[in-house]
Amino acid sequence: MKESTAKHRNPPKVVPTELAERLFTCEKCGSEQPIDWFAKQPRPAESIASNVSVGFWIPISFSNKCACAHLNHIVIERKDTLGRMVISADESFRQLDYIYMFLYAGCGIAGDKRAGIQSKINALEKRLARDSGGLLTSFHAKSIMSGKSWPKATRAMRLKYIRDMCKIANSKYVLRFVTTGSLYTTRATAKEMKLLRDRVFSAYTIRTLERCTNGGVAPTFAFDQAQNGSKNGWAEECMIGIRRSPLFIWFTRGAHIPAIEHVAPGSTIESKLADCLAFVTAREFDCRISGKNIDVDTQWYGYSQFSGFNSQADLIFNDGVGFPWRHVFGMKAKR
Ligand SMILES: [Zn+2]
Repeated sequence: MKESTAKHRNPPKVVPTELAERLFTCEKCGSEQPIDWFAKQPRPAESIASNVSVGFWIPISFSNKCACAHLNHIVIERKDTLGRMVISADESFRQLDYIYMFLYAGCGIAGDKRAGIQSKINALEKRLARDSGGLLTSFHAKSIMSGKSWPKATRAMRLKYIRDMCKIANSKYVLRFVTTGSLYTTRATAKEMKLLRDRVFSAYTIRTLERCTNGGVAPTFAFDQAQNGSKNGWAEECMIGIRRSPLFIWFTRGAHIPAIEHVAPGSTIESKLADCLAFVTAREFDCRISGKNIDVDTQWYGYSQFSGFNSQADLIFNDGVGFPWRHVFGMKAKR
């Protein structure tokens, strides 16, 4: 197979322990070998629309070289797909003293429950339009909190909207994923910043994919469009890199994972919910680091799939109610 030349970024090498310990038996020499989960495949694993029937040809195997030099094809463990879900993500960034923190928050809604969530958000936005005298007509956490876009509101009023949106997100029909990463330095270079973003993007994508396909859900990844309206080429490059790793193929479980979708910020209810989660998580981080009064709470949006890189650059998974500040950032906190 010819090596693909598409521009891509290499994903950071983070493998869940249960997979890191997995071995394969070489079909030629019979020896047991560890799997290289980042053995770059000649092409990104993309499903190809079938030309004979409805559906896709989906990659379900990858190659790994044995110590004897034989190229083995390892077939993944497949799982039935029960449904599809768009998982929309928003990013947030904070720089405080010596910490640079970057995060992705993603939300997906069970298909048949979208209408119910939609009407709750509609009602909240109607209220917001009335209270703001028409200044704000759709949910955007930053605008709600800003004195520029909504001069007359009290802080309590603003926070009430954020909390109400979290309450809508806190539903058993909404899937919630939050991944963070940080750099501890007084001055990060552009290269370090890019690496941080790559790492968090990759960890978020792989984690979300794993959680979704394990539950029989095939995700479509959506991200907020870059502000100038152009496609976010960086996310595509990251995704192509991820698709070239056996780890990605393994976690697809045989499900079709379409190309990344870019949506106008706040144009879908998933992206509005993600905006709220990203804002609340970043603000709680901000308050905790700077010692300010903590006026938001990641517990508001309920049980979520949390992950983050600690100061040793290990990826920590800690699902539950409220972000695991203690586990990931070593902060004085219950979690
Ligand atoms: Zn061998």
